[in-house]
Amino acid sequence: MSQARFNAIDTILHRSEIDVDFIDTPSEKITNYFGCNVFNEKAMREYLPEEAYLSVKAAIQAGSKLSRDVADTVAEAMKNWAMDKGATHYAHWFQPLTGKTAEKHDSFFTIDPGTGDALEEFEGSALAQQEPDGSSFPGGGLRSTFEARGYTAWDPSSPAFILEVGEGKTLCIPTIFVTYSGESLDYKLPLLKSQTTLEKASIPVCQMFDKKVTRVITTLGWEQEYFLVDEALYATRPDLVMTGRTLIGKHSSKGQQLDDHYFGSIPERVYAYMRDLETECYKLGIPVRTRHNEVGPGQYELAPMFEECNVAVDHNQLLMDMMERVAKRHRLRVLLHEKPFAGVNGSGKHNNWSMSTNTGVNLLSPGKEPGKNLRFLTFFVNTIMAVSKHADILRASVANAGNDHRLGANEAPPAIVSVFIGESMTNILNAIEKGKTTKDDVKRVLDLLSKIPNLQLDNTDRNRTSPFAFTGNKFEIRMVGSSMNCAAPMTALNTMMATQLRQFATDVENVMKKDKDQDTAILTVLKKYIKASAHVCFEGDNYTAAWAKEAAKRGLSNLPTTPEALDAYVAKDAVKLFTDNGVFTEKELHAHHEVMLENYVLRLDIESSTLEELYLNYVLPSAVSYQTRLAENVAALKAAGVREATFQKEAIKRIGDNMKKINALAKKMTTEKAKAHKAKSSRAAAIAMCKKVKPLMEQIRVCCDDLELIVDDQEWSLAKYREIMFMK
Ligand code: ADP
Ligand code: MG
Repeated sequence: MSQARFNAIDTILHRSEIDVDFIDTPSEKITNYFGCNVFNEKAMREYLPEEAYLSVKAAIQAGSKLSRDVADTVAEAMKNWAMDKGATHYAHWFQPLTGKTAEKHDSFFTIDPGTGDALEEFEGSALAQQEPDGSSFPGGGLRSTFEARGYTAWDPSSPAFILEVGEGKTLCIPTIFVTYSGESLDYKLPLLKSQTTLEKASIPVCQMFDKKVTRVITTLGWEQEYFLVDEALYATRPDLVMTGRTLIGKHSSKGQQLDDHYFGSIPERVYAYMRDLETECYKLGIPVRTRHNEVGPGQYELAPMFEECNVAVDHNQLLMDMMERVAKRHRLRVLLHEKPFAGVNGSGKHNNWSMSTNTGVNLLSPGKEPGKNLRFLTFFVNTIMAVSKHADILRASVANAGNDHRLGANEAPPAIVSVFIGESMTNILNAIEKGKTTKDDVKRVLDLLSKIPNLQLDNTDRNRTSPFAFTGNKFEIRMVGSSMNCAAPMTALNTMMATQLRQFATDVENVMKKDKDQDTAILTVLKKYIKASAHVCFEGDNYTAAWAKEAAKRGLSNLPTTPEALDAYVAKDAVKLFTDNGVFTEKELHAHHEVMLENYVLRLDIESSTLEELYLNYVLPSAVSYQTRLAENVAALKAAGVREATFQKEAIKRIGDNMKKINALAKKMTTEKAKAHKAKSSRAAAIAMCKKVKPLMEQIRVCCDDLELIVDDQEWSLAKYREIMFMK
């Protein structure tokens, strides 16, 4: 009989209250320490000479390179600031295609080769560029053709920060990660390029309404869902440890059906975790604001104030890292996987996206004045149009093995990309589409538009089932997986929007050539777009089978699995879109596609191997042992002259049947895996894993879960769902 599970339960029951006493939540106001570990404006002003400070600011705004002199000055200032805070090392911090963050630490300390003196040093060259041995990061074949080396290069648009790990403090410099010849090996470079192309495309459109607009940034406010489980129970589950999700496990009788967890009171231990995490976030300048219980038992959510997209992406990556670190301090484990438990909601990340100008305008805010509403309407309709044309690319940008359990299964949101805009906006678009756009009608439409803010009030009706929803003053992409880097969908959306806005500017210009004034031209074009993109708008319940049918009729794709969904990245129109905008070269696109496919295959490989261990080392031994006890009981009864043992005999048979099935399925799985490994391409391997191996894993799971139901609880060695989800 396995003791591990019971020891774990015992550990939890005896976790002393002092366990959380070490948390040092400052009693000061948050504003006193917010951003104290960030080389922000305040630190720059304090540590940089005025002139250098101004050049850095100008370079960040213009996205231009800093001179070597200025870089040296900045490096010196950063070093002094960081050392004053107790940092001993610095690291280029980057976001390779693993989805995690990476860092390689070097000390400021060095020996002067001339004098032999010990000194602390950090030069501009070390700030600007580093050469981590990149050969172990996924590159999709990009490097092997050139050089194995990878380079990280400083991204001054995201502030450096100090990462505190225990007593260790490291100055982290946000960087991009590229090959020897400058091809991107990370999520950041394409994101930055997509922001540049979008800004360039949107300024002329903004200037149709306001000549003072000279800068446009994209904004991102993510919402992060996650599960927390006790570390003792976590440790008893090889599947959680190895894959981040449970590969087997009978549903507990109570899951989320009573809806009593959503927004419920936060358990004390979790509350302590949240506060500790929030403190870490504040120090790092991550403006977290909301926290609450999510739908699943043991599931929570956290969201910040939105920020400039690049910084928000960094902050989300940093947050995920901090979540894991802080959880360990609390004897908890955070599960960022998209689907840790079957039968209860998975976890997503909602990317709230908008654009705003140097004049302080949110381009997706309906505003109050009719003239400005036309600007709102322009960006609003163009976003819908962009998504309607490139829905498949958006879908591809959120494809991974974990997210298939959400998008591809009967869970929110679906794999069909549609746009929810709410009743009032639907009415307005309908009215515009039907109205004639003669000169007089412009006035009428503008009048109509002036009603948007009022209509908006009754439009709090948030369609929770939609993958892409307009929520008052921003669009919310709900398809993003909880473990993902936010950058990929942001890159896709920014890029498609850039192309769309350029098209819009041309279309408006062409109508104006026909002697129309600008407002009329804009409305004429928008009217055309509203019609052309109507098929992607859907206001109903996205979970229903009826929608899947309707969507098919409308010609919308439904790509439930990663290998299929990823095809869109390398389709002709994607190549054109990304290369036209200078976001990816065709080669980079293929390389990134390859990395995603490889990642999919590897993850399924790890999952199926872990499943094998589970049934061989845990499930079958428990089953055999209980079956033996039953058989002994039947024999004992027989010896005592009792013939009746129906339950025992049926249970013996049921156990036997399940074991027999597992055995047969396991053999098939081995064969199918071997075939997948021999596949000619990563795509073929991924499809084989998806279509052949994964279904077998599901079938094995069914047998294991049935055994869990029959076998004596005392004999079952793996922590059960009710324990993992509910015990804290
Ligand atoms: P809900 O859970 O209803 O979707 P939340 O209030 O939890 O809403 O999340 C809203 C998110 O949207 C927050 O992260 C917020 O910062 C973000 N947000 C608000 N305005 C903008 C904007 N203009 N651009 C990007 N994100 C925004
Ligand atoms: Mg949301």
